[in-house]
Amino acid sequence: MLSTMQDTPLSIAQLLRHGSTVHGDAEVVTWTGAGTRRRSYAEVGRRCAQLSHALRTLGVTGDERVATFMWNNAEHLEAYLAVPSMGAVLHTLNIRLFPEQLVHVANHAEDHIVIVDATLLPLLTPQLPQLTTVKHLIVTGDSADGVEAPDSVQVHSYEALLADQPTEFDWPEVDERSAAAMCYTSGTTGDPKGVAYSHRSIYLHSMQVCMTDGPALKQGDRALAVVPQFHAMSWGLPYAAFMIGASLIMPDRFLQPEPLAALIAAEQPTFAAAVPTIWQGLHQYLEQHPQDISCMHDVLIGGSAVPPSLMHTFEDDHDIQVLHAWGMTETSPLGSVARPPAGTEGEERWRYRYTQGRFPASVQARLVDDLGEILPHDGNSVGELEVRGPWIAAAYYGVDAPDKFHDGWLRTGDVGTITPDGYLTLTDRTKDIIKSGGEWISSVDLENAVMGHPDVIEAAVIGVPDAKWDERPLVAVVLREGSGATVDTLREFLSDKVAKWQLPENWTVINEVPKTSVGKFDKKRLRSQYHDGDLEVTRI
Ligand code: ADP
Repeated sequence: MLSTMQDTPLSIAQLLRHGSTVHGDAEVVTWTGAGTRRRSYAEVGRRCAQLSHALRTLGVTGDERVATFMWNNAEHLEAYLAVPSMGAVLHTLNIRLFPEQLVHVANHAEDHIVIVDATLLPLLTPQLPQLTTVKHLIVTGDSADGVEAPDSVQVHSYEALLADQPTEFDWPEVDERSAAAMCYTSGTTGDPKGVAYSHRSIYLHSMQVCMTDGPALKQGDRALAVVPQFHAMSWGLPYAAFMIGASLIMPDRFLQPEPLAALIAAEQPTFAAAVPTIWQGLHQYLEQHPQDISCMHDVLIGGSAVPPSLMHTFEDDHDIQVLHAWGMTETSPLGSVARPPAGTEGEERWRYRYTQGRFPASVQARLVDDLGEILPHDGNSVGELEVRGPWIAAAYYGVDAPDKFHDGWLRTGDVGTITPDGYLTLTDRTKDIIKSGGEWISSVDLENAVMGHPDVIEAAVIGVPDAKWDERPLVAVVLREGSGATVDTLREFLSDKVAKWQLPENWTVINEVPKTSVGKFDKKRLRSQYHDGDLEVTRI
Protein backbone atom coordinates (compact mmCIF):
# COMPACT_ATOMS: atom_id res chain seq x y z
CA MET A 1 0.00 0.00 0.00
CA LEU A 2 1.33 3.42 -0.91
CA SER A 3 1.22 6.13 1.70
CA THR A 4 -1.18 9.02 1.44
CA MET A 5 1.48 11.59 2.16
CA GLN A 6 2.67 14.45 -0.02
CA ASP A 7 6.01 14.01 -1.71
CA THR A 8 7.41 17.52 -1.91
CA PRO A 9 11.04 17.54 -3.00
CA LEU A 10 13.70 18.43 -0.45
CA SER A 11 15.70 21.18 -2.08
CA ILE A 12 18.33 23.86 -1.52
CA ALA A 13 15.84 26.43 -2.89
CA GLN A 14 13.61 25.58 0.07
CA LEU A 15 16.46 26.31 2.48
CA LEU A 16 17.22 29.57 0.67
CA ARG A 17 13.55 30.67 0.68
CA HIS A 18 13.14 29.77 4.34
CA GLY A 19 16.39 31.29 5.62
CA SER A 20 16.08 34.54 3.70
CA THR A 21 12.52 35.20 4.87
CA VAL A 22 11.80 33.55 8.23
CA HIS A 23 15.40 34.17 9.38
CA GLY A 24 15.94 37.29 7.28
CA ASP A 25 17.56 39.10 10.22
CA ALA A 26 20.26 36.49 10.73
CA GLU A 27 23.50 37.59 9.14
CA VAL A 28 26.67 36.48 7.46
CA VAL A 29 29.66 38.36 8.82
CA THR A 30 32.89 38.35 6.81
CA TRP A 31 36.18 39.32 8.46
CA THR A 32 38.26 41.81 6.45
CA GLY A 33 41.34 41.69 8.64
CA ALA A 34 40.58 45.11 10.11
CA GLY A 35 36.83 44.81 10.60
CA THR A 36 33.74 43.15 9.16
CA ARG A 37 31.38 43.14 6.20
CA ARG A 38 27.83 42.25 7.24
CA ARG A 39 24.92 41.01 5.16
CA SER A 40 21.51 39.92 6.43
CA TYR A 41 20.05 36.65 5.18
CA ALA A 42 17.25 38.72 3.57
CA GLU A 43 19.91 40.53 1.57
CA VAL A 44 21.70 37.27 0.78
CA GLY A 45 18.38 36.00 -0.59
CA ARG A 46 18.05 39.00 -2.92
CA ARG A 47 21.65 38.70 -4.06
CA CYS A 48 21.19 34.96 -4.74
CA ALA A 49 18.35 35.88 -7.09
CA GLN A 50 20.62 38.42 -8.81
CA LEU A 51 23.46 35.90 -9.07
CA SER A 52 21.13 33.31 -10.61
CA HIS A 53 19.83 35.77 -13.21
CA ALA A 54 23.43 36.70 -14.02
CA LEU A 55 24.44 33.04 -14.39
CA ARG A 56 21.49 32.46 -16.76
CA THR A 57 22.84 35.23 -18.99
CA LEU A 58 26.16 33.35 -19.07
CA GLY A 59 24.53 30.20 -20.36
CA VAL A 60 23.76 28.33 -17.15
CA THR A 61 20.41 26.84 -18.07
CA GLY A 62 20.69 23.26 -16.85
CA ASP A 63 23.07 21.26 -14.70
CA GLU A 64 26.20 23.13 -15.74
CA ARG A 65 28.92 23.09 -13.12
CA VAL A 66 29.63 26.45 -11.52
CA ALA A 67 32.89 26.19 -9.65
CA THR A 68 34.13 28.34 -6.79
CA PHE A 69 37.76 29.10 -5.94
CA MET A 70 37.14 31.09 -2.80
CA TRP A 71 37.65 31.61 0.91
CA ASN A 72 34.82 31.37 3.45
CA ASN A 73 32.85 34.59 2.95
CA ALA A 74 29.47 36.08 2.05
CA GLU A 75 29.92 35.68 -1.71
CA HIS A 76 30.84 32.04 -1.32
CA LEU A 77 27.67 31.56 0.73
CA GLU A 78 25.67 33.17 -2.10
CA ALA A 79 27.17 30.73 -4.59
CA TYR A 80 26.41 27.81 -2.21
CA LEU A 81 22.73 28.76 -2.18
CA ALA A 82 22.08 30.27 -5.62
CA VAL A 83 23.81 27.74 -7.87
CA PRO A 84 21.93 24.61 -6.69
CA SER A 85 18.67 26.55 -6.24
CA MET A 86 18.65 27.48 -9.94
CA GLY A 87 19.19 23.83 -10.87
CA ALA A 88 22.91 24.01 -11.63
CA VAL A 89 25.69 22.21 -9.75
CA LEU A 90 28.10 23.95 -7.39
CA HIS A 91 31.65 22.62 -7.55
CA THR A 92 33.85 23.80 -4.69
CA LEU A 93 37.45 23.75 -5.91
CA ASN A 94 40.04 23.19 -3.21
CA ILE A 95 42.36 26.22 -3.43
CA ARG A 96 45.22 24.22 -1.92
CA LEU A 97 45.38 21.42 -4.48
CA PHE A 98 48.56 21.07 -6.50
CA PRO A 99 48.16 22.74 -9.94
CA GLU A 100 47.93 19.43 -11.79
CA GLN A 101 45.26 18.16 -9.38
CA LEU A 102 43.31 21.40 -9.81
CA VAL A 103 43.41 21.03 -13.60
CA HIS A 104 42.35 17.41 -13.30
CA VAL A 105 39.31 18.04 -11.09
CA ALA A 106 38.08 21.15 -12.98
CA ASN A 107 38.27 19.30 -16.30
CA HIS A 108 36.83 16.12 -14.87
CA ALA A 109 33.81 17.97 -13.46
CA GLU A 110 33.57 19.97 -16.73
CA ASP A 111 33.32 23.30 -14.94
CA HIS A 112 31.63 25.93 -17.12
CA ILE A 113 32.19 28.94 -14.88
CA VAL A 114 34.63 29.65 -12.06
CA ILE A 115 33.81 32.24 -9.42
CA VAL A 116 37.17 33.29 -8.00
CA ASP A 117 38.27 35.52 -5.16
CA ALA A 118 40.57 38.28 -6.49
CA THR A 119 43.23 37.39 -3.89
CA LEU A 120 43.38 33.84 -5.30
CA LEU A 121 43.83 34.81 -8.96
CA PRO A 122 47.60 34.14 -8.87
CA LEU A 123 46.85 30.49 -8.00
CA LEU A 124 44.22 30.05 -10.69
CA THR A 125 45.10 32.11 -13.75
CA PRO A 126 48.31 30.18 -14.62
CA GLN A 127 46.16 27.04 -14.95
CA LEU A 128 43.35 28.67 -16.98
CA PRO A 129 44.75 27.71 -20.42
CA GLN A 130 44.47 24.07 -19.35
CA LEU A 131 40.91 24.31 -18.01
CA THR A 132 39.34 23.20 -21.25
CA THR A 133 35.65 23.60 -20.37
CA VAL A 134 35.75 26.95 -18.52
CA LYS A 135 34.07 29.76 -20.47
CA HIS A 136 33.66 32.45 -17.80
CA LEU A 137 35.63 33.72 -14.84
CA ILE A 138 33.72 35.80 -12.30
CA VAL A 139 35.96 37.77 -9.94
CA THR A 140 34.82 38.70 -6.43
CA GLY A 141 36.50 41.31 -4.27
CA ASP A 142 38.73 43.63 -6.27
CA SER A 143 38.04 44.75 -9.80
CA ALA A 144 38.34 42.24 -12.61
CA ASP A 145 40.37 44.67 -14.73
CA GLY A 146 43.64 43.38 -16.04
CA VAL A 147 43.03 39.71 -15.22
CA GLU A 148 45.06 37.54 -17.55
CA ALA A 149 42.86 34.93 -19.22
CA PRO A 150 42.93 33.07 -22.55
CA ASP A 151 40.64 34.41 -25.34
CA SER A 152 38.24 31.51 -24.74
CA VAL A 153 37.48 32.75 -21.21
CA GLN A 154 35.42 35.89 -20.56
CA VAL A 155 36.26 37.74 -17.35
CA HIS A 156 33.54 39.48 -15.31
CA SER A 157 33.29 41.37 -12.07
CA TYR A 158 30.92 39.69 -9.60
CA GLU A 159 29.41 42.95 -8.35
CA ALA A 160 29.00 44.42 -11.84
CA LEU A 161 27.28 41.23 -13.01
CA LEU A 162 24.80 41.32 -10.13
CA ALA A 163 24.20 45.08 -10.17
CA ASP A 164 21.21 45.45 -12.48
CA GLN A 165 19.64 42.03 -12.06
CA PRO A 166 16.17 41.52 -10.51
CA THR A 167 16.15 40.66 -6.81
CA GLU A 168 13.62 37.86 -7.17
CA PHE A 169 13.97 34.55 -8.97
CA ASP A 170 11.40 31.91 -9.76
CA TRP A 171 13.34 28.95 -8.34
CA PRO A 172 12.61 25.84 -10.44
CA GLU A 173 11.32 22.69 -8.78
CA VAL A 174 14.17 20.19 -9.11
CA ASP A 175 14.22 16.44 -8.63
CA GLU A 176 15.54 16.01 -5.09
CA ARG A 177 17.83 13.22 -6.30
CA SER A 178 19.64 15.42 -8.79
CA ALA A 179 23.10 16.76 -8.03
CA ALA A 180 23.24 20.04 -6.11
CA ALA A 181 26.92 20.30 -5.31
CA MET A 182 30.14 18.41 -5.78
CA CYS A 183 33.36 18.18 -3.91
CA TYR A 184 36.52 16.20 -4.60
CA THR A 185 38.37 14.38 -1.84
CA SER A 186 41.59 16.09 -0.90
CA GLY A 187 43.62 13.19 -2.19
CA THR A 188 45.26 12.32 1.13
CA THR A 189 45.39 8.68 0.11
CA GLY A 190 45.14 8.81 -3.69
CA ASP A 191 43.88 10.90 -6.62
CA PRO A 192 41.05 13.31 -5.77
CA LYS A 193 37.68 11.69 -6.50
CA GLY A 194 34.41 13.57 -6.92
CA VAL A 195 31.35 13.16 -4.74
CA ALA A 196 28.10 14.64 -6.11
CA TYR A 197 25.68 15.50 -3.29
CA SER A 198 21.96 15.59 -4.05
CA HIS A 199 19.43 18.20 -2.90
CA ARG A 200 17.92 15.49 -0.75
CA SER A 201 21.20 14.40 0.82
CA ILE A 202 22.19 17.98 1.67
CA TYR A 203 18.76 18.72 3.12
CA LEU A 204 18.74 15.65 5.36
CA HIS A 205 22.35 16.23 6.38
CA SER A 206 21.47 19.82 7.34
CA MET A 207 18.76 18.49 9.64
CA GLN A 208 21.36 16.27 11.27
CA VAL A 209 23.70 19.23 11.86
CA CYS A 210 20.82 20.81 13.82
CA MET A 211 19.86 17.69 15.78
CA THR A 212 20.12 18.02 19.56
CA ASP A 213 22.35 14.98 19.94
CA GLY A 214 24.33 15.87 16.84
CA PRO A 215 26.22 19.16 16.53
CA ALA A 216 22.98 20.87 17.70
CA LEU A 217 23.38 24.07 15.70
CA LYS A 218 20.40 26.20 16.66
CA GLN A 219 18.49 29.37 15.92
CA GLY A 220 20.35 32.39 17.23
CA ASP A 221 23.75 30.65 17.25
CA ARG A 222 26.65 32.55 15.76
CA ALA A 223 28.64 29.86 14.00
CA LEU A 224 32.31 30.47 13.30
CA ALA A 225 32.95 28.41 10.16
CA VAL A 226 36.71 27.89 10.07
CA VAL A 227 36.26 24.61 8.19
CA PRO A 228 36.73 25.66 4.60
CA GLN A 229 33.86 25.94 2.18
CA PHE A 230 36.30 24.57 -0.40
CA HIS A 231 36.53 21.17 1.30
CA ALA A 232 33.77 18.86 2.56
CA MET A 233 31.15 21.64 2.24
CA SER A 234 32.31 23.41 5.39
CA TRP A 235 30.81 20.44 7.25
CA GLY A 236 27.36 21.49 6.07
CA LEU A 237 27.30 24.65 8.18
CA PRO A 238 26.16 27.09 5.45
CA TYR A 239 23.06 25.05 4.61
CA ALA A 240 22.26 24.16 8.21
CA ALA A 241 22.58 27.82 9.22
CA PHE A 242 19.99 28.82 6.61
CA MET A 243 17.74 25.97 7.72
CA ILE A 244 17.79 26.91 11.39
CA GLY A 245 18.49 30.65 11.47
CA ALA A 246 22.02 30.63 12.86
CA SER A 247 24.30 33.48 11.79
CA LEU A 248 27.59 32.66 10.09
CA ILE A 249 30.91 34.21 11.04
CA MET A 250 33.32 33.81 8.12
CA PRO A 251 37.08 34.29 8.57
CA ASP A 252 37.76 34.83 4.83
CA ARG A 253 41.53 34.40 4.31
CA PHE A 254 42.49 35.27 7.88
CA LEU A 255 43.03 31.79 9.28
CA GLN A 256 46.08 32.39 11.46
CA PRO A 257 45.61 32.29 15.25
CA GLU A 258 46.02 36.05 15.74
CA PRO A 259 43.25 37.20 13.37
CA LEU A 260 41.04 34.30 14.48
CA ALA A 261 41.39 35.49 18.08
CA ALA A 262 40.54 39.04 16.98
CA LEU A 263 37.49 37.80 15.08
CA ILE A 264 36.31 35.83 18.12
CA ALA A 265 36.74 38.91 20.32
CA ALA A 266 34.82 41.11 17.89
CA GLU A 267 31.98 38.76 16.95
CA GLN A 268 31.53 36.52 20.00
CA PRO A 269 30.66 33.30 18.15
CA THR A 270 28.68 30.74 20.15
CA PHE A 271 29.60 27.72 18.02
CA ALA A 272 32.66 26.87 15.93
CA ALA A 273 34.03 24.11 13.74
CA ALA A 274 37.58 23.32 12.62
CA VAL A 275 40.22 20.58 12.40
CA PRO A 276 42.43 19.97 15.49
CA THR A 277 45.49 21.82 14.16
CA ILE A 278 43.56 25.13 14.03
CA TRP A 279 42.63 24.79 17.71
CA GLN A 280 46.14 23.73 18.69
CA GLY A 281 47.45 26.90 17.02
CA LEU A 282 44.82 29.11 18.65
CA HIS A 283 45.53 27.66 22.07
CA GLN A 284 49.28 28.28 21.74
CA TYR A 285 48.60 31.86 20.70
CA LEU A 286 46.23 32.43 23.62
CA GLU A 287 48.89 31.19 26.03
CA GLN A 288 50.94 34.25 25.07
CA HIS A 289 47.96 36.58 24.55
CA PRO A 290 45.27 35.63 27.05
CA GLN A 291 41.70 36.26 25.96
CA ASP A 292 38.30 34.99 27.04
CA ILE A 293 36.87 32.80 24.27
CA SER A 294 34.25 31.06 26.39
CA CYS A 295 31.47 32.62 24.25
CA MET A 296 31.73 29.41 22.19
CA HIS A 297 29.61 26.83 24.00
CA ASP A 298 30.40 24.05 21.56
CA VAL A 299 33.43 23.60 19.40
CA LEU A 300 33.06 20.86 16.83
CA ILE A 301 36.38 19.20 16.01
CA GLY A 302 36.98 16.42 13.54
CA GLY A 303 38.75 15.65 10.29
CA SER A 304 41.42 13.82 12.27
CA ALA A 305 41.49 12.38 15.76
CA VAL A 306 41.24 14.97 18.53
CA PRO A 307 43.90 14.32 21.18
CA PRO A 308 42.25 14.03 24.62
CA SER A 309 44.85 16.52 25.90
CA LEU A 310 43.39 19.16 23.57
CA MET A 311 39.87 18.51 24.85
CA HIS A 312 40.98 18.93 28.46
CA THR A 313 42.95 22.07 27.67
CA PHE A 314 39.92 23.68 26.07
CA GLU A 315 37.69 22.73 28.96
CA ASP A 316 40.17 23.70 31.72
CA ASP A 317 41.75 26.82 30.22
CA HIS A 318 38.94 28.18 28.07
CA ASP A 319 35.74 26.78 29.53
CA ILE A 320 34.78 25.33 26.14
CA GLN A 321 33.30 21.92 25.44
CA VAL A 322 34.96 20.16 22.54
CA LEU A 323 32.61 17.98 20.55
CA HIS A 324 34.52 15.24 18.74
CA ALA A 325 33.07 14.17 15.38
CA TRP A 326 34.02 11.83 12.57
CA GLY A 327 33.24 12.19 8.90
CA MET A 328 34.61 12.30 5.39
CA THR A 329 33.92 13.99 2.07
CA GLU A 330 31.99 10.88 1.05
CA THR A 331 29.68 11.22 4.09
CA SER A 332 28.63 14.86 3.41
CA PRO A 333 30.67 14.93 5.80
CA LEU A 334 28.95 14.36 9.14
CA GLY A 335 29.04 10.78 10.40
CA SER A 336 29.31 10.28 14.14
CA VAL A 337 29.35 12.79 17.01
CA ALA A 338 30.62 12.07 20.54
CA ARG A 339 27.83 13.18 22.85
CA PRO A 340 28.01 10.88 25.89
CA PRO A 341 24.93 8.98 27.04
CA ALA A 342 22.67 10.81 29.49
CA GLY A 343 23.55 10.19 33.11
CA THR A 344 27.26 9.54 32.61
CA GLU A 345 29.65 11.58 34.72
CA GLY A 346 33.32 12.14 35.49
CA GLU A 347 35.86 9.80 33.94
CA GLU A 348 33.23 7.68 32.24
CA ARG A 349 31.80 10.74 30.53
CA TRP A 350 35.27 11.75 29.33
CA ARG A 351 35.90 8.27 27.96
CA TYR A 352 32.80 8.59 25.76
CA ARG A 353 33.87 12.05 24.66
CA TYR A 354 37.28 10.80 23.52
CA THR A 355 35.64 8.41 21.03
CA GLN A 356 34.68 9.36 17.48
CA GLY A 357 31.08 9.17 18.69
CA ARG A 358 27.75 7.62 17.86
CA PHE A 359 26.02 7.46 14.51
CA PRO A 360 22.57 8.98 14.08
CA ALA A 361 19.61 6.76 13.21
CA SER A 362 19.97 7.65 9.53
CA VAL A 363 23.48 6.25 9.21
CA GLN A 364 24.20 2.56 9.67
CA ALA A 365 27.70 1.44 10.55
CA ARG A 366 29.41 -1.94 10.60
CA LEU A 367 32.90 -3.36 10.99
CA VAL A 368 34.32 -5.80 8.49
CA ASP A 369 37.48 -7.92 8.73
CA ASP A 370 40.04 -8.73 6.02
CA LEU A 371 37.93 -11.65 4.78
CA GLY A 372 34.76 -9.57 4.45
CA GLU A 373 33.20 -11.05 7.63
CA ILE A 374 30.99 -8.73 9.71
CA LEU A 375 32.38 -8.25 13.22
CA PRO A 376 30.41 -7.79 16.43
CA HIS A 377 30.00 -4.36 18.07
CA ASP A 378 31.63 -5.51 21.29
CA GLY A 379 34.12 -2.72 21.79
CA ASN A 380 37.03 -5.11 21.10
CA SER A 381 36.74 -6.49 17.57
CA VAL A 382 38.78 -4.33 15.22
CA GLY A 383 37.72 -3.99 11.60
CA GLU A 384 37.26 -1.59 8.71
CA LEU A 385 34.34 0.77 9.17
CA GLU A 386 31.63 0.62 6.50
CA VAL A 387 28.66 2.99 6.44
CA ARG A 388 25.41 3.48 4.53
CA GLY A 389 22.68 6.05 4.66
CA PRO A 390 20.88 8.82 2.77
CA TRP A 391 23.83 11.25 2.84
CA ILE A 392 26.56 8.66 2.20
CA ALA A 393 28.11 8.38 -1.28
CA ALA A 394 27.10 5.35 -3.34
CA ALA A 395 29.75 5.98 -6.02
CA TYR A 396 32.25 8.56 -7.24
CA TYR A 397 31.47 10.90 -10.09
CA GLY A 398 32.62 9.46 -13.39
CA VAL A 399 35.13 6.92 -12.07
CA ASP A 400 34.82 3.31 -11.09
CA ALA A 401 36.14 2.55 -7.63
CA PRO A 402 34.77 -0.92 -6.85
CA ASP A 403 37.22 -1.33 -3.96
CA LYS A 404 35.59 1.61 -2.15
CA PHE A 405 32.12 0.07 -2.06
CA HIS A 406 30.94 -3.25 -0.68
CA ASP A 407 27.35 -4.54 -1.15
CA GLY A 408 25.91 -1.03 -1.07
CA TRP A 409 28.10 0.13 1.81
CA LEU A 410 30.88 2.71 1.64
CA ARG A 411 34.26 1.34 2.72
CA THR A 412 35.72 4.20 4.72
CA GLY A 413 39.34 3.02 4.88
CA ASP A 414 39.16 3.70 8.62
CA VAL A 415 39.77 1.00 11.18
CA GLY A 416 38.42 0.75 14.70
CA THR A 417 35.93 -0.70 17.16
CA ILE A 418 32.26 -0.06 18.00
CA THR A 419 30.79 -0.62 21.45
CA PRO A 420 27.42 -2.33 22.02
CA ASP A 421 25.93 1.13 22.69
CA GLY A 422 27.23 2.33 19.33
CA TYR A 423 30.37 4.39 20.07
CA LEU A 424 33.05 4.27 17.39
CA THR A 425 36.73 4.43 18.30
CA LEU A 426 39.09 4.74 15.37
CA THR A 427 42.55 3.33 15.72
CA ASP A 428 43.83 4.18 12.25
CA ARG A 429 43.36 4.53 8.56
CA THR A 430 44.00 1.19 6.84
CA LYS A 431 46.99 2.78 5.11
CA ASP A 432 48.49 4.06 8.38
CA ILE A 433 48.23 0.93 10.51
CA ILE A 434 51.57 -0.25 11.85
CA LYS A 435 52.00 -4.02 11.70
CA SER A 436 54.64 -5.04 14.19
CA GLY A 437 55.46 -8.73 14.50
CA GLY A 438 51.94 -9.71 13.42
CA GLU A 439 50.27 -7.32 15.90
CA TRP A 440 48.68 -3.98 15.08
CA ILE A 441 49.86 -0.78 16.69
CA SER A 442 47.48 2.16 16.52
CA SER A 443 49.27 5.30 15.34
CA VAL A 444 46.36 7.38 16.69
CA ASP A 445 46.74 5.93 20.22
CA LEU A 446 50.46 6.63 20.21
CA GLU A 447 49.95 10.18 18.90
CA ASN A 448 47.36 10.91 21.58
CA ALA A 449 49.64 9.57 24.28
CA VAL A 450 52.67 11.58 23.11
CA MET A 451 50.57 14.74 22.70
CA GLY A 452 49.53 14.35 26.33
CA HIS A 453 53.06 15.50 27.29
CA PRO A 454 52.97 19.19 28.21
CA ASP A 455 56.06 20.01 26.11
CA VAL A 456 54.72 18.42 22.94
CA ILE A 457 52.94 20.62 20.42
CA GLU A 458 52.41 18.03 17.67
CA ALA A 459 53.17 14.35 17.22
CA ALA A 460 52.64 12.15 14.16
CA VAL A 461 53.41 8.44 14.09
CA ILE A 462 54.20 6.38 10.99
CA GLY A 463 55.32 2.79 10.49
CA VAL A 464 58.87 2.31 9.23
CA PRO A 465 60.48 -0.93 8.01
CA ASP A 466 62.15 -3.09 10.64
CA ALA A 467 64.27 -6.16 9.99
CA LYS A 468 62.98 -8.07 13.00
CA TRP A 469 59.36 -6.94 13.38
CA ASP A 470 58.56 -5.94 9.74
CA GLU A 471 57.42 -2.54 10.90
CA ARG A 472 57.92 -0.37 13.97
CA PRO A 473 56.52 3.04 14.87
CA LEU A 474 58.48 6.24 14.26
CA VAL A 475 57.34 9.26 16.28
CA ALA A 476 57.85 12.66 14.67
CA VAL A 477 57.48 15.21 17.39
CA VAL A 478 57.36 19.01 17.58
CA LEU A 479 58.49 20.38 20.94
CA ARG A 480 57.52 23.62 22.63
CA GLU A 481 60.18 26.33 22.28
CA GLY A 482 62.75 26.15 25.05
CA SER A 483 61.53 22.72 26.14
CA GLY A 484 63.98 20.54 28.00
CA ALA A 485 62.23 17.33 26.90
CA THR A 486 64.31 14.75 25.06
CA VAL A 487 63.29 11.64 23.18
CA ASP A 488 64.40 9.62 26.23
CA THR A 489 62.15 11.56 28.60
CA LEU A 490 59.27 11.30 26.11
CA ARG A 491 59.71 7.54 25.87
CA GLU A 492 59.82 7.35 29.63
CA PHE A 493 56.61 9.43 29.75
CA LEU A 494 54.92 6.83 27.51
CA SER A 495 56.07 3.85 29.53
CA ASP A 496 52.95 3.65 31.72
CA LYS A 497 50.57 4.71 28.95
CA VAL A 498 51.08 2.08 26.24
CA ALA A 499 51.93 -1.62 26.24
CA LYS A 500 55.66 -2.26 26.53
CA TRP A 501 55.96 -3.91 23.11
CA GLN A 502 54.35 -0.84 21.54
CA LEU A 503 56.83 1.64 23.02
CA PRO A 504 58.44 3.32 20.01
CA GLU A 505 62.21 3.17 19.66
CA ASN A 506 62.38 5.46 16.62
CA TRP A 507 62.03 9.20 17.23
CA THR A 508 62.64 12.37 15.29
CA VAL A 509 62.28 15.94 16.51
CA ILE A 510 61.07 18.23 13.73
CA ASN A 511 59.95 21.88 13.43
CA GLU A 512 56.49 21.14 12.06
CA VAL A 513 54.49 18.08 11.04
CA PRO A 514 53.75 18.41 7.30
CA LYS A 515 50.05 19.16 6.70
CA THR A 516 47.64 18.29 3.90
CA SER A 517 45.67 20.90 1.95
CA VAL A 518 43.07 20.89 4.72
CA GLY A 519 45.40 21.00 7.71
CA LYS A 520 45.65 17.31 8.61
CA PHE A 521 48.92 15.54 9.37
CA ASP A 522 50.32 14.51 5.99
CA LYS A 523 51.72 11.07 6.70
CA LYS A 524 52.33 10.40 3.01
CA ARG A 525 54.83 13.29 3.02
CA LEU A 526 56.31 12.23 6.35
CA ARG A 527 56.89 8.73 4.97
CA SER A 528 58.64 10.03 1.88
CA GLN A 529 60.78 12.35 4.04
CA TYR A 530 61.79 9.26 6.00
CA HIS A 531 62.53 7.21 2.89
CA ASP A 532 64.51 10.08 1.34
CA GLY A 533 66.63 10.24 4.50
CA ASP A 534 65.43 13.78 5.30
CA LEU A 535 64.58 12.98 8.92
CA GLU A 536 67.22 12.75 11.61
CA VAL A 537 66.10 9.62 13.45
CA THR A 538 67.22 8.74 16.96
CA ARG A 539 66.98 5.05 17.84
CA ILE A 540 66.67 4.33 21.51
P1 ADP B 1 40.76 13.03 2.75
O1 ADP B 1 40.18 11.65 2.70
O2 ADP B 1 41.26 13.47 1.46
O3 ADP B 1 41.68 13.28 3.93
P2 ADP B 1 38.43 13.83 4.11
O4 ADP B 1 38.28 15.15 4.74
O5 ADP B 1 37.27 13.26 3.43
O6 ADP B 1 39.59 13.99 3.09
O7 ADP B 1 38.98 12.87 5.22
C1 ADP B 1 38.21 11.88 5.83
C2 ADP B 1 39.08 11.08 6.75
O8 ADP B 1 39.54 11.88 7.83
C3 ADP B 1 38.38 9.93 7.42
O9 ADP B 1 38.29 8.81 6.56
C4 ADP B 1 39.30 9.67 8.61
O10 ADP B 1 40.44 8.91 8.26
C5 ADP B 1 39.74 11.06 8.97
N1 ADP B 1 38.94 11.55 10.08
C6 ADP B 1 37.88 12.37 10.05
N2 ADP B 1 37.41 12.63 11.28
C7 ADP B 1 38.19 11.92 12.15
C8 ADP B 1 38.22 11.75 13.57
N3 ADP B 1 37.38 12.37 14.37
N4 ADP B 1 39.15 10.92 14.08
C9 ADP B 1 40.04 10.27 13.30
N5 ADP B 1 40.07 10.42 11.96
C10 ADP B 1 39.17 11.22 11.38
